[in-house]
Amino acid sequence: MLYLIPTPIGHLEDITLRALRLLKEVDLILAEDTRLTGRLLKHYDISTPMQAFHAHNEHSRVQKILDELQAGKKLGLVSDAGTPGISDPGFLLVRACLEAGIQVESLPGPTAFVPALTASGLPCDRFHFEGFLPHKKGRKKRLEYLASLPHTFILYESPHRIARCLHELEAHCGPDRPACLARELSKIHEEFLRGTLSHLAKAAEKRTLKGEMVLIVGGQASDKRNKTTRKDDR
Ligand code: SAM
Repeated sequence: MLYLIPTPIGHLEDITLRALRLLKEVDLILAEDTRLTGRLLKHYDISTPMQAFHAHNEHSRVQKILDELQAGKKLGLVSDAGTPGISDPGFLLVRACLEAGIQVESLPGPTAFVPALTASGLPCDRFHFEGFLPHKKGRKKRLEYLASLPHTFILYESPHRIARCLHELEAHCGPDRPACLARELSKIHEEFLRGTLSHLAKAAEKRTLKGEMVLIVGGQASDKRNKTTRKDDR
């Protein structure tokens, strides 16, 4: 059995009782960064052995892991933060396990985009999760696609690229598109910046936005709705 075990995205209490039990019970934890996960395990007094499993070795490790699972071992997969497989390694291993008839159990738990989306104030009945945009090749195409979506979309972005990303989104979606930048979720400096893309792009120019961030952007219809509301309000 392979368990996908979500871990906190900031606040160490954001981990389920079942996740803690399984981190103790599995024979081996496959961790993206063993040092980082080591800190979490130490906090909860867990001494299960760990092995590195990350974007740079996942291809070469899959067969060995399948062998261990087929030999009857219970393995847990964790990423640095949040849910394995969501903008993190996991998919390759899950697919290989299912093809080999090995059971995969994915525990419900923390992931950054859900709290960002639900507190954004933007419609969350339908949404598109984009994750990270490609840095170069294919970036323009993705931006065009995102701009055309009728519903809310979600991006992960790093602090040193956020200003550029907001300017590009403003150029593709228009300045009035409502958006929300959720920063440092569940951490001491948690912050939500809500407004239009133009408002957020200006904010990112004025001050350096640090830490981890999720960007939520309203769909194509949402700026039209905004304008109508504003007109009706007058
Ligand atoms: N597997 C993770 C999940 O389930 O959300 C995502 C991993 S991805 C490599 C890391 C990105 O997630 C960050 O660059 C940021 O966009 C987002 N993220 C992770 N933790 C966050 C936090 N505490 N606040 C805001 N965004 C966060």
